[in-house]
Amino acid sequence: MLTGYVEYPRLGGTRHFFIRCETDWERYFAAVTDCPNGLPENYSRVQFELAAYSRGPSARATNIEVVGSPLPPIERTCRTCGSVFVLSAGLQAWFQSYKRLPLPWRCADCRRARRESQVSSAVHTTSSSA
Ligand SMILES: [Zn+2]
Repeated sequence: MLTGYVEYPRLGGTRHFFIRCETDWERYFAAVTDCPNGLPENYSRVQFELAAYSRGPSARATNIEVVGSPLPPIERTCRTCGSVFVLSAGLQAWFQSYKRLPLPWRCADCRRARRESQVSSAVHTTSSSA
């Protein structure tokens, strides 16, 4: 048995969805018909098996069973500006399973400001050396 998190496709399907596996962080295809209790809530933790006939990145999950509630939102205080911000389940999954990064300690505004200053300094370095 593998465990992972339910991840809906971008457009939101009602028949198919994805499971992000906690072991290898691969995304597995899943169908609602493989869930005995119906479509699980987004970001809930599930146990599943891989269908015997499927392999590779589009392998299909089967025997899907919900084993945990969705990730609870996390509240943090920004290290830069001190404001309190919330990391939703979606944001947690995005950082941890998609970007494979630790959860941020700065609010969205401060992260954006930092990113923009890094980009502009990189551009500046490139143009001055050319
Ligand atoms: Zn901030």
